[in-house]
Amino acid sequence: MTARAPRGLPHERIDSRRTASIYLHFPYCTVRCRYCDFNVARVTAIPRDDYTNAVRAEAERRLPEIAGRDVLSIYFGGGTPSLWGPAGVGETLAHLVASTGAVGPEVTLEANPNEAADAALMASYAQAGVTRLSLGLQAVDDAELHTLGRSHDASLGLEALQVAVATFSAVTVDLIFGLPGSTAESWRDTLHRVLDTGVDHLSLYHLTVEARTGLERAVRDGRLALPTDDVAADQWELIAPTLAAYGLHAYEISSYCRPGFESLHNSGYWLGQPYLGLGAGAHSFSGWREGGARRRENLRPHREYLRVAASGDDPVGTDEVVSRDDHRDERVMTGLRYGWGLDLLALADELRLDASCGLADRLGPLMKEGLVEIRDGRLRLTPRGRSLADAVTRRLLAG
Ligand code: SF4
Repeated sequence: MTARAPRGLPHERIDSRRTASIYLHFPYCTVRCRYCDFNVARVTAIPRDDYTNAVRAEAERRLPEIAGRDVLSIYFGGGTPSLWGPAGVGETLAHLVASTGAVGPEVTLEANPNEAADAALMASYAQAGVTRLSLGLQAVDDAELHTLGRSHDASLGLEALQVAVATFSAVTVDLIFGLPGSTAESWRDTLHRVLDTGVDHLSLYHLTVEARTGLERAVRDGRLALPTDDVAADQWELIAPTLAAYGLHAYEISSYCRPGFESLHNSGYWLGQPYLGLGAGAHSFSGWREGGARRRENLRPHREYLRVAASGDDPVGTDEVVSRDDHRDERVMTGLRYGWGLDLLALADELRLDASCGLADRLGPLMKEGLVEIRDGRLRLTPRGRSLADAVTRRLLAG
């Protein structure tokens, strides 16, 4: 594994008034996983060059939206962006870096094990400028992978992880707990097998059964049974001590890493940093400005996106103003999930609200109950509050 130089914590580097990130959505997959409700197109022939050209045209049109800001991170998400190819990713990246003047941004590529197990391909992505690989492992048990409808088995997944750790200066893995057929023991085994590879960052999610997915139909028809709440709670409780034994700490409710390996990109979302989203169905956020923030979503159907963006027109799907209260509520919600909490005074200053951001009446009782605290101007959950994070957030935001 390549060592990475220590750097500042995300909230010390991210400044919602001066920094930004770029997200690129690559909407193509070769299979549709059973649990997935993302904006993806299952295709056999991926129009790589057309997509690269369309994204470039959109970038040329929209980069002025973040002009003057330091671009801290660039993120290739999907879909399966590891199918884009090093040429498309490299060309897109080079254009973005040259156009924004970004200096040493964190560059993340999401990858599926089918591509990530190919050491030569991964070396080409690293050479193209990718610094961080986000591996969609989800599970390392063949029965669980089959349940999820994944296109790889456990041994290929672990092989891919070893390649990733040997190639990139930072690697993160997505895993899902609460899977049908899983137990506390199988989850413990999953964590150990993954952590034994030396990975530096994990994102751990409880399975969400999304509407209109194959998984939802299977659960509804009784073909699959979810674990009981007690089993899911046991799995959750295993996480912190198991990861701590490997030197990983929680810096967000679902995100764990060794010190210095926090995701700058994801932290930007939690800290209210503007982001420019390029590609089919990509989301963008302008950051707070006097009068309101703007949030937009690009056209979702990939063919329509290709046609509009390639012609030089704006591939906008929806564009809406975010009110001051909605923006504050979102910042409170994500800030409470972030390990170092929310800089309440900075947010009050930015939104021109009182020092409690208009939350004084609701903060008092939660502080008395020992669920939240304010230290050094930062509002955060106490250890007790963390175990009740959703309920605490609901009480704080109930207007
Ligand atoms: S690879 Fe990822 S984006 Fe594609 S269908 Fe599976 S879960 Fe969805």
